[in-house]
Parts: sequence; C-alpha cells; structure tokens
Amino acid sequence: MRDVREYIFKVSVLGNGGVGKTSMVLQYTENKFKANYLMTIGSNFAIKMLRYDENTVCRLQIWDLAGQSSFAFVRPGFYQGSFATIYVFDITDRESFIDIENWVKEADQYVPNVPRVLVGNKLDLTDERVVSRSEGLALAEQLNARYYETSAKTGVNLEKLFTDLNNKLVELHVLNKKSSFQ
Ligand code: GDP
Repeated sequence: MRDVREYIFKVSVLGNGGVGKTSMVLQYTENKFKANYLMTIGSNFAIKMLRYDENTVCRLQIWDLAGQSSFAFVRPGFYQGSFATIYVFDITDRESFIDIENWVKEADQYVPNVPRVLVGNKLDLTDERVVSRSEGLALAEQLNARYYETSAKTGVNLEKLFTDLNNKLVELHVLNKKSSFQ
C-alpha cells in the first residue's frame, strides 16, 4: 500500500478591517463572493486540502482575524502555531497599505521568522486604485515577502497565492529545503 502522508499548516491572514480577508478565504475555499459587508467577529477559519505530490497531502488551515482593534484580546491565540503570515491591504485604500507595517510588528511578537506574503486585494477596482503595483513590490521586498495582487470578487491569483505558499511550506517543513520566499 502506498504511504500517503498528511500535514496540517496553519496560516494567518492579517490586515485592516474591510480589505477583503474573509472574502478572499471564502472565494478560495468555496468559490463564493458576497457583496454585503459583514464584519468578522473574533476570527474565522477555513480548510483547504492540497496535494503536493502523490505521497503528500496538506490541509491548509487558513485563519482570518478581525481587523478591528477592539478585538485585540483574541490575537495572541490566533497567531500561535502559524506557519506563515499573509498581510492584506486594499489597493483602493492607502491607509490599509500604510498600516501593514503595524500588522507586521504585531505578528513578529508571536511568530517571527515565518514566510510572509503581501497581498494587494480588490484588483478588479481598477478605476479606484491608489496604491501602485511598484509600491506593493517595494514594500514586499522590504518585508522579505512574496507579493501578489488578487481579487476576492473574480478570484484572480488566489489559487496561485495559496498553492505557492503551500509548496513553500512543504519544502521548508517536510523536505527541509531552506530558501527565501520572495
Ligand atoms: P475583511 O474585513 O478584511 O475580512 O473584509 P471582507 O472580506 O469582509 O470585505 C469587505 C468588503 O469588501 C465587502 O463588502 C466585500 O464584498 C468587499 N470586497 C472584498 N474583496 C473584494 C474584491 O476583491 N473586490 C471588490 N470589488 N470588493 C471586495
């Protein structure tokens, strides 16, 4: 009998309220998009099964935290055990881009030295864009993060983001291959 090994990777999705964290996870895991705004209370989590190769299956446990500062008390438990951090801003909201630095500072207190991903979301809102791709790339370089631009509405680049990250986590934790993730 073939020996299939299963791994569980918890990853945390961070960023200001309203940038589209919950929508990204919902689109990626269930192919759904809801236009109505529903504030996340505490944290949500979703699971996606991914096959790395025929012997290696992963459950990506994707946690999405309420961005509102009033829920700060839930954060330590939320961060604990994360294998990666995904920082999301909204390309139509400069404040959400500026605030990424604070999210990085906070997460670094609990989970330093894990692979980082920076995401500019709402790519479909081209006319309202205020943060350029080159600014996103520059911040990603500064954070030693990999950069993606996504739309939770159309789903563009979500599959790629999570598959690349899962592959990276397998290389790091299963195959013991250490390399940067940029
Ligand atoms: P969160 O607070 O970061 O989890 O943000 P939500 O997922 O709740 O999204 C906030 C609002 O932005 C909702 O009204 C979503 O429908 C909308 N939204 C999220 N992602 C996108 C996107 O990629 N494109 C567009 N046009 N709207 C989005």
